[in-house]
Amino acid sequence: MARPRSKINITCQVPKCSYYLKDDGKDIVKRGKNRAGHQQFYCNHCNSWFVETANTPLYHKHLRLDEIILICKLLVEKLGIRGIERATGHHRDTICQLLEDLAIHAETITQFLLKDVELTPIEVDELWSTIKKNKRKLSPAAQAQIMKVTSGFTPV
Ligand SMILES: [Zn+2]
Repeated sequence: MARPRSKINITCQVPKCSYYLKDDGKDIVKRGKNRAGHQQFYCNHCNSWFVETANTPLYHKHLRLDEIILICKLLVEKLGIRGIERATGHHRDTICQLLEDLAIHAETITQFLLKDVELTPIEVDELWSTIKKNKRKLSPAAQAQIMKVTSGFTPV
């Protein structure tokens, strides 16, 4: 019988793992925090460490983390939704949904891009201004979050 564990509602985030993003049969334990203060996890199937990215767009239904990072870099290069669709082969609806998710988590994503992807602040700014150009496709909540991380923001 499996020993009881505190409930972990996160799945393995290692793409090569046979339990990647699978909830059934997962075997994940919590193991401390990394230097950035993110909760670390260990998957007993692939014997890999990973950091909690659940509840952020980095834990995405349709896109892997490396694909999300690629799309972020294309946004820095000012590619629009159709350009990204051509470059990655992902449907524009998937890309629109990602832009919405990125915007909703604008502060988390900004930190992630600066620390983990090592983009410069100027590059991250380019990304948000590219996303802002697709304003009509973003919810008001998403637009409000982008305003918080872009330089033109004036607190009311
Ligand atoms: Zn795994």
